[in-house]
Amino acid sequence: MKVATLGSGSRGNSVFVECGRTRFLVDAGFSGAEIARRLDLLGVRPESIQAIVVTHEHRDHTSGIGVAARRWNWPLYITPATERACASLLRGSETIVHYEGEAPFDVGEARIHPSSTCHDAADPVALTIQEPETGLKLGVATDLGRATTPVRTALAGCHFVVLESNHDEVMLRESPYPWSVKQRIGGSRGHLSNRLAADLAVDLLHPSLGGFLLAHLSHECNLPEAAREATKKTLARRGYRGVVEVALQDGPSHLYDVDALVDVARNGGPQLQLFGREAAPRVTRPVRFPPDA
Ligand SMILES: [Zn+2]
Ligand SMILES: [Zn+2]
Repeated sequence: MKVATLGSGSRGNSVFVECGRTRFLVDAGFSGAEIARRLDLLGVRPESIQAIVVTHEHRDHTSGIGVAARRWNWPLYITPATERACASLLRGSETIVHYEGEAPFDVGEARIHPSSTCHDAADPVALTIQEPETGLKLGVATDLGRATTPVRTALAGCHFVVLESNHDEVMLRESPYPWSVKQRIGGSRGHLSNRLAADLAVDLLHPSLGGFLLAHLSHECNLPEAAREATKKTLARRGYRGVVEVALQDGPSHLYDVDALVDVARNGGPQLQLFGREAAPRVTRPVRFPPDA
């Protein structure tokens, strides 16, 4: 199983997932051209993608869903309420596959479990994605006002988590945003702070957890180092030495090989193999373990 963000933040979100022989995107909040450009940076041809799974209607997750679905014939897996909220992006020629509630569904070889989240959208969900052949489980959980018990339960046992770490609480408080915006972002239907992301990450620890990719960072009220340090330090106090990286807005993350990360977590291998392009050699850089590791 492999995963990368194409970009993450309030100006666009999309997650590339390879699960067995199935490739799909979770959300597509970029233009068609930008999706193609970013997939190319990962060494992935758009024609090899099989679907988009949409988490909620906010435009930073959906601005490209219509255009991409039409251009590459990607079916859109979407809830009826989210589809209605995305009506202006769709022309009726797209292939729509509805999912509803928390019932699991399959996209090719991937088994997907949605769980409802607390967020100011019509029908927002977090997703876990299971690869039946390996038993690996990936979590994609952003746009969480708070991590409810159902979301924590759904994410338990994940081997890799793309986890929201939206804002530093002090930076948000001291930002020039109007009070109402601060309330919305920091409220229970807004976005998860660095502190709450770290708390949730601790709850998810288990011996085969390969890593966290912290995502949906606020441009104005966060810094990559602040997000990384909050979760990394909290996890290090529990003895965790796995990957804690940050997804940025303007380009793709590394392409993480979840099998390799889990192997390192289980066996404490000296070096992790990360690779950014399909055809690239398997080792492009060593993993940066925490300094105290
Ligand atoms: Zn968002
Ligand atoms: Zn949102």
